[in-house]
Amino acid sequence: QAKAESGSSYRFYATRMNEQTARRGQIEISLREAIEQGNLHLNFQPIMDFPQGRIVSCEALARWSDPKLGVVHPVEFIKIAEESGLIVPLGEWVLRETCAFFQSCNQNGLQLDSISANISPRQCRETGFVNQLQNILGETATEPSCLQLEITESIMFDDQRVNPVDILQAISALGVKISLDDFGTGYSSLSYLKRLPIDTLKVDRTFIKDIEGDPDGQALVEAIVSMARSLGISVICEGAETREQCSLVSSFGCSLIQGFGIARPMSAENFRQYLGRINGVDNAAARAG
Ligand code: C2E
Ligand code: MG
Ligand code: MG
Ligand code: MG
Repeated sequence: QAKAESGSSYRFYATRMNEQTARRGQIEISLREAIEQGNLHLNFQPIMDFPQGRIVSCEALARWSDPKLGVVHPVEFIKIAEESGLIVPLGEWVLRETCAFFQSCNQNGLQLDSISANISPRQCRETGFVNQLQNILGETATEPSCLQLEITESIMFDDQRVNPVDILQAISALGVKISLDDFGTGYSSLSYLKRLPIDTLKVDRTFIKDIEGDPDGQALVEAIVSMARSLGISVICEGAETREQCSLVSSFGCSLIQGFGIARPMSAENFRQYLGRINGVDNAAARAG
């Protein structure tokens, strides 16, 4: 009896494993196709200077909807892209598309100070990454200091063959800005703030969630903000979902906010309309562009 039961639970386990492996394989094959055929797109989530009520920047976020698989969440396909190496062509596409979008906004009189894109450790460790970045900036005529690259702390320990500090310094030497994404999660170490050439720190949304009724949580965010400021690093609070959360973090000295409480990520077209509505259009710039 016991043997039969363990046999059936093994079969259940094996079936689930097979299903997962099959889905992973499916995603890898379809993702490669999607990258080749240009079937991915970017959404843009506004970053607001909250006290001023002005959109100063936005984060480009990859989106993929496959005819067979449907919408695949970025957390799922980015992980598979990283494991399979597809993150290299995918990441290059994201950077080019992000810079091109920034330029198209400017040319339409929709001035942003900067634009952000996420990069994976695997992607920026690739030989030639810094050259590629420089080429993309040139081709799209993007001022390097207008591009922010978001990296996570995982760059510090996923592979030590290439020193991450060297890569980030080379990126930084181009004039491109670096943001530390999801700050405070995972294996956070404050020493990274000293060792890495960080321009901006993005406070992870887990710190903002439920902050209203949580004095300790508030003290923590306030301390992170003031620490960053005294190091000359800008701060963005991620994941503010309510107006109250926006007002709170802004009262702690963090004026830059990205979250559903400002706006959700949106298509390029919707973002341009949104930008025109919130910031207005500089018609002289639009005519000149
Ligand atoms: P991330 O870089 O930390 O991006 C922020 C994520 O938080 C986005 O999820 C965004 O939709 C979500 N978010 C923003 N505000 C709120 C809020 O108020 N509440 C909640 N609950 N969520 C909020 P998304 O677009 O699903 O992306 C997930 C992650 O996938 C990103 O996290 C990033 O790590 C990765 N990712 C997305 N696009 C790219 C890409 O082009 N390249 C790389 N390497 N990674 C990417
Ligand atoms: Mg990010
Ligand atoms: Mg983040
Ligand atoms: Mg995140």
